[in-house]
Amino acid sequence: MDTLISRAVTDLKHARTAVALTGAGISIESGIPPFRGKGGLWERFDPMEIAHIDAFVADPALVWRVLVKELKEVIDRALPNDGHKGLARMERMGILKTVITQNVDGLHQAAGSTDVIEFHGTFAWQRCTECETRVPTRDVDASVLPPRCICGGILRPDAVLFGEMIPPIALTRSQEESSQCDVMLVVGTSALVQPAAFMPVIAQQSGATVIEINPEPTPLTGRISKFLVAGKAGQIMNEILSEVSSLIQSKKQ
Ligand code: NAD
Ligand code: ZN
Repeated sequence: MDTLISRAVTDLKHARTAVALTGAGISIESGIPPFRGKGGLWERFDPMEIAHIDAFVADPALVWRVLVKELKEVIDRALPNDGHKGLARMERMGILKTVITQNVDGLHQAAGSTDVIEFHGTFAWQRCTECETRVPTRDVDASVLPPRCICGGILRPDAVLFGEMIPPIALTRSQEESSQCDVMLVVGTSALVQPAAFMPVIAQQSGATVIEINPEPTPLTGRISKFLVAGKAGQIMNEILSEVSSLIQSKKQ
Protein backbone atom coordinates (compact mmCIF):
# COMPACT_ATOMS: atom_id res chain seq x y z
CA MET A 1 0.00 0.00 0.00
CA ASP A 2 1.15 3.53 -0.85
CA THR A 3 2.84 4.96 2.25
CA LEU A 4 1.18 8.35 1.79
CA ILE A 5 -2.24 6.67 1.73
CA SER A 6 -1.28 4.89 4.97
CA ARG A 7 -0.14 8.18 6.52
CA ALA A 8 -3.44 9.82 5.55
CA VAL A 9 -5.39 6.89 7.03
CA THR A 10 -3.39 7.04 10.28
CA ASP A 11 -3.95 10.80 10.59
CA LEU A 12 -7.68 10.40 9.89
CA LYS A 13 -7.97 7.52 12.35
CA HIS A 14 -6.40 9.57 15.15
CA ALA A 15 -8.32 12.77 14.37
CA ARG A 16 -10.94 14.02 16.78
CA THR A 17 -12.40 16.29 14.11
CA ALA A 18 -11.61 15.99 10.43
CA VAL A 19 -12.99 18.33 7.78
CA ALA A 20 -12.53 18.57 4.02
CA LEU A 21 -12.07 21.58 1.76
CA THR A 22 -12.94 20.77 -1.84
CA GLY A 23 -12.60 22.54 -5.17
CA ALA A 24 -13.41 22.14 -8.84
CA GLY A 25 -10.95 19.21 -9.17
CA ILE A 26 -13.18 16.82 -7.20
CA SER A 27 -15.98 17.28 -9.77
CA ILE A 28 -13.83 16.82 -12.90
CA GLU A 29 -14.46 13.04 -12.79
CA SER A 30 -18.20 13.89 -12.85
CA GLY A 31 -17.69 15.67 -16.18
CA ILE A 32 -17.68 19.25 -14.83
CA PRO A 33 -14.64 21.04 -16.21
CA PRO A 34 -12.70 23.54 -14.07
CA PHE A 35 -12.84 27.20 -15.07
CA ARG A 36 -9.14 27.86 -15.04
CA GLY A 37 -6.44 26.31 -17.22
CA LYS A 38 -6.50 24.83 -20.70
CA GLY A 39 -9.97 24.66 -22.26
CA GLY A 40 -11.48 26.24 -19.11
CA LEU A 41 -14.31 28.75 -19.16
CA TRP A 42 -12.01 31.71 -18.47
CA GLU A 43 -10.03 30.95 -21.62
CA ARG A 44 -13.16 31.53 -23.69
CA PHE A 45 -15.03 34.15 -21.65
CA ASP A 46 -14.06 37.14 -19.58
CA PRO A 47 -15.32 36.39 -16.05
CA MET A 48 -16.13 40.10 -15.62
CA GLU A 49 -18.53 39.86 -18.58
CA ILE A 50 -20.40 36.71 -17.61
CA ALA A 51 -19.91 36.14 -13.90
CA HIS A 52 -19.87 39.64 -12.41
CA ILE A 53 -22.96 40.93 -10.64
CA ASP A 54 -22.81 44.19 -12.65
CA ALA A 55 -22.85 42.23 -15.92
CA PHE A 56 -25.85 40.22 -14.69
CA VAL A 57 -27.77 43.33 -13.68
CA ALA A 58 -26.93 45.10 -16.98
CA ASP A 59 -27.96 42.20 -19.27
CA PRO A 60 -29.33 39.10 -17.48
CA ALA A 61 -30.39 37.41 -20.75
CA LEU A 62 -26.88 37.61 -22.18
CA VAL A 63 -25.32 36.19 -19.00
CA TRP A 64 -27.99 33.47 -18.87
CA ARG A 65 -27.25 32.38 -22.45
CA VAL A 66 -23.71 31.49 -21.38
CA LEU A 67 -24.82 30.02 -18.02
CA VAL A 68 -27.29 27.64 -19.70
CA LYS A 69 -24.74 26.25 -22.13
CA GLU A 70 -21.69 26.23 -19.90
CA LEU A 71 -23.13 25.42 -16.48
CA LYS A 72 -26.82 24.42 -16.40
CA GLU A 73 -26.57 21.78 -19.13
CA VAL A 74 -23.41 20.32 -17.54
CA ILE A 75 -24.51 20.43 -13.88
CA ASP A 76 -28.06 19.18 -14.59
CA ARG A 77 -26.56 15.95 -15.98
CA ALA A 78 -23.69 15.47 -13.52
CA LEU A 79 -23.67 12.70 -10.92
CA PRO A 80 -21.44 12.41 -7.85
CA ASN A 81 -18.27 10.39 -8.37
CA ASP A 82 -16.18 8.26 -6.00
CA GLY A 83 -14.54 11.42 -4.57
CA HIS A 84 -17.87 12.88 -3.40
CA LYS A 85 -19.18 9.45 -2.38
CA GLY A 86 -16.00 8.71 -0.42
CA LEU A 87 -16.33 11.90 1.64
CA ALA A 88 -20.01 11.11 2.31
CA ARG A 89 -19.03 7.61 3.42
CA MET A 90 -16.37 9.05 5.73
CA GLU A 91 -19.09 11.21 7.32
CA ARG A 92 -21.31 8.13 7.87
CA MET A 93 -18.34 6.28 9.40
CA GLY A 94 -17.87 9.15 11.88
CA ILE A 95 -14.46 10.05 10.41
CA LEU A 96 -15.37 13.33 8.70
CA LYS A 97 -17.47 16.09 10.23
CA THR A 98 -17.93 18.75 7.57
CA VAL A 99 -17.25 19.47 3.91
CA ILE A 100 -16.36 23.06 3.05
CA THR A 101 -16.74 23.33 -0.72
CA GLN A 102 -15.91 26.01 -3.23
CA ASN A 103 -17.99 24.12 -5.77
CA VAL A 104 -21.43 25.24 -6.83
CA ASP A 105 -22.62 21.94 -8.33
CA GLY A 106 -24.46 20.42 -5.33
CA LEU A 107 -22.70 17.06 -5.82
CA HIS A 108 -21.59 16.63 -2.20
CA GLN A 109 -25.23 16.74 -1.06
CA ALA A 110 -26.22 14.47 -3.95
CA ALA A 111 -23.60 11.98 -2.69
CA GLY A 112 -25.10 12.06 0.81
CA SER A 113 -22.92 14.51 2.75
CA THR A 114 -25.20 16.24 5.24
CA ASP A 115 -22.96 19.02 6.59
CA VAL A 116 -21.80 20.96 3.54
CA ILE A 117 -20.71 24.58 3.72
CA GLU A 118 -21.10 26.11 0.27
CA PHE A 119 -18.44 28.80 0.36
CA HIS A 120 -19.44 30.23 -3.03
CA GLY A 121 -23.14 29.42 -2.78
CA THR A 122 -24.72 27.03 -5.27
CA PHE A 123 -25.68 26.82 -8.91
CA ALA A 124 -27.86 23.78 -8.16
CA TRP A 125 -30.48 26.34 -7.04
CA GLN A 126 -31.63 29.62 -8.55
CA ARG A 127 -33.27 32.38 -6.56
CA CYS A 128 -35.74 35.10 -7.48
CA THR A 129 -34.30 38.62 -7.49
CA GLU A 130 -37.73 39.93 -6.35
CA CYS A 131 -39.16 37.51 -3.80
CA GLU A 132 -36.11 35.31 -2.91
CA THR A 133 -38.00 32.07 -3.77
CA ARG A 134 -35.49 29.30 -4.57
CA VAL A 135 -35.98 26.89 -7.49
CA PRO A 136 -33.89 23.78 -8.26
CA THR A 137 -31.85 24.57 -11.39
CA ARG A 138 -33.01 21.32 -13.04
CA ASP A 139 -36.61 22.62 -12.88
CA VAL A 140 -35.81 26.02 -14.39
CA ASP A 141 -37.36 26.46 -17.82
CA ALA A 142 -34.58 27.99 -19.93
CA SER A 143 -36.63 28.22 -23.15
CA VAL A 144 -37.09 31.96 -22.61
CA LEU A 145 -34.16 33.91 -21.15
CA PRO A 146 -33.76 35.23 -18.57
CA PRO A 147 -35.82 32.60 -16.76
CA ARG A 148 -38.41 33.99 -14.38
CA CYS A 149 -40.00 33.09 -11.06
CA ILE A 150 -43.77 32.57 -10.89
CA CYS A 151 -43.94 36.11 -9.42
CA GLY A 152 -42.39 37.50 -12.61
CA GLY A 153 -39.01 38.32 -11.06
CA ILE A 154 -35.78 37.34 -12.83
CA LEU A 155 -34.08 34.21 -11.51
CA ARG A 156 -30.38 34.38 -10.68
CA PRO A 157 -27.86 31.78 -9.53
CA ASP A 158 -27.83 31.26 -5.76
CA ALA A 159 -24.05 31.35 -6.20
CA VAL A 160 -21.61 34.11 -5.33
CA LEU A 161 -20.88 36.19 -8.43
CA PHE A 162 -17.74 38.29 -8.84
CA GLY A 163 -18.26 41.56 -7.01
CA GLU A 164 -20.35 39.88 -4.30
CA MET A 165 -19.50 38.92 -0.75
CA ILE A 166 -18.94 35.40 0.52
CA PRO A 167 -22.15 34.58 2.48
CA PRO A 168 -21.19 35.68 6.03
CA ILE A 169 -22.53 32.47 7.63
CA ALA A 170 -20.49 30.30 5.24
CA LEU A 171 -17.37 32.35 5.92
CA THR A 172 -17.77 32.35 9.70
CA ARG A 173 -18.58 28.63 9.89
CA SER A 174 -15.67 27.76 7.57
CA GLN A 175 -13.26 29.75 9.73
CA GLU A 176 -14.61 28.03 12.86
CA GLU A 177 -14.38 24.53 11.38
CA SER A 178 -10.89 25.26 10.05
CA SER A 179 -9.63 26.49 13.41
CA GLN A 180 -11.22 23.61 15.36
CA CYS A 181 -10.35 20.59 13.19
CA ASP A 182 -7.22 18.53 13.72
CA VAL A 183 -7.10 17.10 10.20
CA MET A 184 -8.08 18.93 7.01
CA LEU A 185 -8.29 17.09 3.69
CA VAL A 186 -7.82 19.56 0.84
CA VAL A 187 -9.19 17.89 -2.28
CA GLY A 188 -9.04 19.17 -5.86
CA THR A 189 -8.36 22.83 -5.26
CA SER A 190 -5.58 24.91 -6.79
CA ALA A 191 -5.70 27.05 -3.63
CA LEU A 192 -5.57 30.21 -5.71
CA VAL A 193 -9.01 31.63 -4.94
CA GLN A 194 -9.20 33.73 -1.76
CA PRO A 195 -10.49 33.74 0.92
CA ALA A 196 -11.25 29.99 0.47
CA ALA A 197 -7.55 29.19 0.07
CA PHE A 198 -6.92 30.73 3.49
CA MET A 199 -8.91 27.99 5.29
CA PRO A 200 -6.02 25.45 5.17
CA VAL A 201 -3.73 28.20 6.51
CA ILE A 202 -6.09 28.75 9.46
CA ALA A 203 -6.19 24.97 10.02
CA GLN A 204 -2.43 24.57 9.93
CA GLN A 205 -1.84 27.61 12.18
CA SER A 206 -4.34 26.17 14.65
CA GLY A 207 -2.32 22.95 14.84
CA ALA A 208 -4.17 20.73 12.34
CA THR A 209 -2.54 18.36 9.89
CA VAL A 210 -3.38 19.46 6.34
CA ILE A 211 -3.36 16.71 3.70
CA GLU A 212 -3.79 17.48 0.01
CA ILE A 213 -5.28 15.18 -2.63
CA ASN A 214 -4.50 16.54 -6.07
CA PRO A 215 -2.67 15.31 -9.20
CA GLU A 216 -0.59 18.52 -9.08
CA PRO A 217 1.22 20.45 -6.34
CA THR A 218 -0.33 23.76 -5.25
CA PRO A 219 0.97 26.83 -3.39
CA LEU A 220 0.04 24.98 -0.16
CA THR A 221 2.27 22.01 -0.95
CA GLY A 222 5.31 21.77 1.26
CA ARG A 223 4.38 24.95 3.14
CA ILE A 224 0.95 24.49 4.61
CA SER A 225 0.14 20.89 3.83
CA LYS A 226 2.06 18.12 5.57
CA PHE A 227 1.99 16.05 2.38
CA LEU A 228 0.32 15.71 -0.99
CA VAL A 229 -1.27 12.42 -2.03
CA ALA A 230 -0.80 12.77 -5.78
CA GLY A 231 -3.66 11.47 -7.90
CA LYS A 232 -7.28 11.81 -8.87
CA ALA A 233 -9.78 12.40 -6.08
CA GLY A 234 -11.97 9.35 -6.84
CA GLN A 235 -9.15 6.86 -6.97
CA ILE A 236 -7.31 8.20 -3.92
CA MET A 237 -10.53 8.32 -1.89
CA ASN A 238 -11.23 4.68 -2.80
CA GLU A 239 -7.72 3.68 -1.70
CA ILE A 240 -8.05 5.56 1.60
CA LEU A 241 -11.46 4.02 2.28
CA SER A 242 -10.37 0.50 1.46
CA GLU A 243 -7.51 0.82 3.97
CA VAL A 244 -9.86 2.35 6.58
CA SER A 245 -12.35 -0.50 6.02
CA SER A 246 -9.69 -3.17 6.35
CA LEU A 247 -8.52 -1.58 9.63
CA ILE A 248 -12.09 -1.67 10.95
CA GLN A 249 -12.47 -5.31 9.79
CA SER A 250 -9.24 -6.38 11.49
CA LYS A 251 -10.27 -4.59 14.72
CA LYS A 252 -13.53 -6.58 14.74
CA GLN A 253 -11.74 -9.94 14.36
P1 NAD B 1 -9.29 25.22 -9.87
O1 NAD B 1 -9.95 25.04 -11.19
O2 NAD B 1 -8.53 26.47 -9.63
O3 NAD B 1 -8.30 24.01 -9.58
C1 NAD B 1 -8.66 22.69 -9.80
C2 NAD B 1 -7.65 21.81 -9.11
O4 NAD B 1 -8.07 20.46 -9.25
C3 NAD B 1 -6.24 21.90 -9.69
O5 NAD B 1 -5.31 22.08 -8.62
C4 NAD B 1 -6.04 20.55 -10.37
O6 NAD B 1 -4.69 20.08 -10.31
C5 NAD B 1 -6.95 19.66 -9.54
N1 NAD B 1 -7.45 18.45 -10.21
C6 NAD B 1 -7.56 18.18 -11.54
N2 NAD B 1 -8.09 16.96 -11.74
C7 NAD B 1 -8.34 16.44 -10.50
C8 NAD B 1 -8.90 15.22 -10.03
N3 NAD B 1 -9.35 14.28 -10.89
N4 NAD B 1 -8.99 15.01 -8.69
C9 NAD B 1 -8.54 15.97 -7.82
N5 NAD B 1 -8.01 17.15 -8.21
C10 NAD B 1 -7.92 17.39 -9.53
O7 NAD B 1 -10.42 24.99 -8.79
P2 NAD B 1 -10.74 25.74 -7.46
O8 NAD B 1 -9.53 25.82 -6.63
O9 NAD B 1 -11.95 25.08 -6.90
O10 NAD B 1 -11.14 27.22 -7.92
C11 NAD B 1 -12.07 27.44 -8.95
C12 NAD B 1 -13.31 28.25 -8.57
O11 NAD B 1 -14.29 28.10 -9.60
C13 NAD B 1 -13.96 27.73 -7.31
O12 NAD B 1 -14.02 28.77 -6.44
C14 NAD B 1 -15.36 27.25 -7.70
O13 NAD B 1 -16.33 28.06 -7.07
C15 NAD B 1 -15.51 27.53 -9.16
N6 NAD B 1 -15.81 26.30 -9.96
C16 NAD B 1 -16.69 25.38 -9.49
C17 NAD B 1 -16.95 24.23 -10.24
C18 NAD B 1 -17.93 23.24 -9.70
O14 NAD B 1 -18.82 23.59 -8.95
N7 NAD B 1 -17.76 21.95 -10.03
C19 NAD B 1 -16.32 24.03 -11.46
C20 NAD B 1 -15.44 25.01 -11.92
C21 NAD B 1 -15.18 26.14 -11.15
ZN1 ZN C 1 -40.29 35.63 -7.25
